[in-house]
Amino acid sequence: MATTATPPPSNGPLVVQPLKRRHCGECGRGPLPLLVMEEGTPRCLDCADLGHLVFLPRGDTALTRRSREESGLSAVVVRFHRRRGRYERQGVLVEEAALARAEERCLADAEARRRRRTRDARRRAAEDVRFTDAFARNIRRLFPGCPADRAHAIAAHASVRGSGRVGRSAAGRALSEAAVVSAVRAAVRHTETPYDQLLMSGVARHEARRRIAAAVDGTMACWREGGPDGEGREGGPAWEGEDD
Ligand SMILES: [Zn+2]
Repeated sequence: MATTATPPPSNGPLVVQPLKRRHCGECGRGPLPLLVMEEGTPRCLDCADLGHLVFLPRGDTALTRRSREESGLSAVVVRFHRRRGRYERQGVLVEEAALARAEERCLADAEARRRRRTRDARRRAAEDVRFTDAFARNIRRLFPGCPADRAHAIAAHASVRGSGRVGRSAAGRALSEAAVVSAVRAAVRHTETPYDQLLMSGVARHEARRRIAAAVDGTMACWREGGPDGEGREGGPAWEGEDD
């Protein structure tokens, strides 16, 4: 197994974290935590004119790249990994002011990303409100007897973003009659009948559905008929505007 003792090539000076105790060949200081090999002789960072640089450990790719961009002089720091038989990058040495500028750029990015997320969230919230209102109007159009607050609750529940419930399915998006009926049926089942109690008491789902089917149909028929004065049944799609 050839363990090459030659560090990888890199731009600028290469700084080594020595495994053995090394002393500077010029000033004699040591043992050195970091050194530069010059013509086979270790030198301390001060003697190698790198003493003014600060160490930035590896791990933050953007910060590292920007620090090196900002730094007039920078050096890669490596250490020899005996078992793997190769030099591995530990970080970089950069000018302190360059590191500060790079940190500011990264913070500015994070701040910009945070602001964009806030804008996106506001826009989605507005879309959800419009969607829920349109859905509620369609519930009231098909089920005039459904109380307005119940219609809105059903619409809001059905249109929760990403929930996978009927309101956000493709059909729900299109506000089709089938999607509206399905959302109303689910709501009636859970809130106007003992369906949930049946499930909690151990009744199998299909048996529970069978037991409440008549009650569900009754409530839905009542809501379909029950417009106070029968309005809302005709006219174009309710989501186009008007209404309420
Ligand atoms: Zn020295």
